[in-house]
Amino acid sequence: MHNFIYKRINTLDQATSAFASPAGSLAADQSRFLAGGTTLIDLMKLEVERPKAVIDINALPYKEIKKIEGAGVNIGALVKNSALANHELIQKEYSVLSEALLAGASAQLRNKATTSGNLLQRTRCVYFRDLSKPCNKREPKSGCSALEGFNRNLAILGTSSSCIASNPSDMNVAMTALEAKINIVSKKGNRDVDIADFYLLPGSTPEKETVLETGDFITGLTLPPLPAGTRSLYLKLRDRASYEFALSSAAIVATIKGGKFERIRMAMGGIGAKPWRSLSAEKMLEGGPASEDRFRAAAEEFVKGAKAQSQNGFKIELAKRCLVHALNQVAKA
Ligand SMILES: Cc1cc2nc3c(=O)[nH]c(=O)nc-3n(C[C@H](O)[C@H](O)[C@H](O)COP(=O)(O)OP(=O)(O)OC[C@H]3O[C@@H](n4cnc5c(N)ncnc54)[C@H](O)[C@@H]3O)c2cc1C
Ligand code: SF4
Repeated sequence: MHNFIYKRINTLDQATSAFASPAGSLAADQSRFLAGGTTLIDLMKLEVERPKAVIDINALPYKEIKKIEGAGVNIGALVKNSALANHELIQKEYSVLSEALLAGASAQLRNKATTSGNLLQRTRCVYFRDLSKPCNKREPKSGCSALEGFNRNLAILGTSSSCIASNPSDMNVAMTALEAKINIVSKKGNRDVDIADFYLLPGSTPEKETVLETGDFITGLTLPPLPAGTRSLYLKLRDRASYEFALSSAAIVATIKGGKFERIRMAMGGIGAKPWRSLSAEKMLEGGPASEDRFRAAAEEFVKGAKAQSQNGFKIELAKRCLVHALNQVAKA
């Protein structure tokens, strides 16, 4: 591992100023915030990430889950994945988030990993972590080894000829179905970004994964309130039953009245360059009966435009079955 400067900060002002001059005169993009470290430290050990300064944010106060009367719930950036999954309010009102978190990683990792760190975890494409192979995401314009290589786990939606990596997070899929807003602070001011607009598709710049600018700090996420009677589910399909990333997953958040979907939000993981949502598939279901033939039609719509690579064509059928199964479960609940 390369030498780096370690700095622990205690205030938000220090966080937003940290990248301006973390330790003297370093260029802004040579610093990284350290939350749980389960992504960052791994990547530093592999020398995929080589920051000159590591800014430890663990002494900052964003560790609470607060109900905002009439406006949902706010989750601090540094709330641990395990604390979020096991929180009474989350289990009661946003159980899909709890299920998604508990389907991810291991108990030890969840005790360390944070909400903001999970949002910003990096792809599991093997070439991203292998310095001996070209990877446009790690080294812009170097090439994409996955196009002709091992791509079984990678994306079928939102890819480009520069990168076919998938977003690996479970939490992000549930957050997308819940229409979370990401609370961002910087020297320029505060802004809330809808999770649907937060992740960028790879296009010709796969190294740029989100709308975050250098020096932006995430303080938390806000989940809007859900209509009374909302049902939800997270279904994760993977090669083994635990401690494995999704091949396909589905988060459903729905209100059903008189056998019809009054409101439905659906997001899928494991298949997209970002957590994937299809507004047109949701529209096909809203207002109509919750029946399997309609679920199948919506699933076809959901994967419209999917592009298979040499090894991951099976994901198109898998994703459709995953969505139909999840919808059936929610409709039956
Ligand atoms: C073996 C293994 C298995 C795993 N399995 C799964 C799985 O099945 N499903 C799943 O979803 N995940 C899985 N993960 C990923 C895990 O969930 C993430 O590593 C974790 O959530 C990252 O959180 P962290 O707090 O440790 O992030 P860190 O490593 O501390 O940070 C990650 C990135 O976020 C940035 N960052 C952190 N906080 C902020 C902030 N407040 N503002 C701005 N930038 C910030 C950091 O600078 C860094 O670039 C697995 C990880 C491992 C190692
Ligand atoms: S798919 Fe993306 S992350 Fe994987 S090798 Fe290609 S450019 Fe790199």
